[in-house]
Amino acid sequence: MAKVAWIGLGVMGYPMAGHILKKGGHDLVVYNRTNAKAQDWVAKHGKGRAAATPAEAADGADFVFCCVGNDDDLRQVTIGSNGAFGSVKKGAVFVDNTTASANVARELHAAAKAKGFDFLDAPVSGGQAGAEGGVLTVMVGGDAGVFERAKPVIAHYARMMNLIGPAGAGQLAKMVNQICIAGVVQGLAEGLHLAQKSGLDIPKVMETISKGAAQSWQMENRWQTMSDGKFDFGFAVDWMRKDLGICLDEARRAGASLPLTALVDQFYSEVQRQGGSRWDTSSLIARLNNADKK
Ligand code: NAP
Repeated sequence: MAKVAWIGLGVMGYPMAGHILKKGGHDLVVYNRTNAKAQDWVAKHGKGRAAATPAEAADGADFVFCCVGNDDDLRQVTIGSNGAFGSVKKGAVFVDNTTASANVARELHAAAKAKGFDFLDAPVSGGQAGAEGGVLTVMVGGDAGVFERAKPVIAHYARMMNLIGPAGAGQLAKMVNQICIAGVVQGLAEGLHLAQKSGLDIPKVMETISKGAAQSWQMENRWQTMSDGKFDFGFAVDWMRKDLGICLDEARRAGASLPLTALVDQFYSEVQRQGGSRWDTSSLIARLNNADKK
């Protein structure tokens, strides 16, 4: 049994930490900025303890997990005042599941090394359902030996995990993931839009083409809700714009050209202006339907 700390009990972190407790039987200390959520987590699980600060949670832990919002949030809970990096013990492993930049991952990897502990960037894919089911995909950046040590604990909330490369490589892989999703969703939105405008029998079209080369996870799982105009679930547009912003910054740094990603990012900004900040990413079709009404 290991001593585990968990920082950030949001939509993703709350169930992920729960899997570590339930499946791993580890001794868990949780921290959440809004303390009531940490108290609720402890009450719900009937085990574990809530800490008042990230530093208090991380103190004495063998593994410290983290899942907060963006780069700034991550810096705050690690190297900020009362941050976890002030108390992580030598030889421990810090696993960050936040979707953040590769730069912050490299920066924190170096800061951890300087203090005698290890850092893995380990963003996830699979959404709220994947977190609740403990079946996330985890893309990891860091050192191979460290990954091997953390693997059995990460496995409690993952179905697929891979060490992609050195520090930052997990975040870079997550960027590739988001770029691929953005393009596919826009293509699917346009396909459905044409099908609607042409009066096609949409279920029949989707049933047929989803068995051919146009098949995708988005098509299989989202065509129905997209054609019904239902977006009150899933991965929010605000989060997607945060992620695409990270991709576009990285592209500038690396000299990569991402014209479609830049365009879809702008389309999402139009969805936000339509009131869709919290809608699922499949709401790109709402933008086409809205343009139609004008
Ligand atoms: P969320 O529900 O908004 O939760 C964010 C968590 O981070 C909360 O516990 C929040 O605390 C904490 N937090 C934010 N800023 C903080 C700060 N400055 N200091 C301390 N704590 C802070 O977000 P989520 O959906 O769990 O997403 C978490 C991460 O996973 C994001 O990077 C997101 O892009 C990524 N992700 C999300 C999904 C998804 O489907 N939701 C899928 C894949 C990846 P409070 O409770 O006090 O606000």
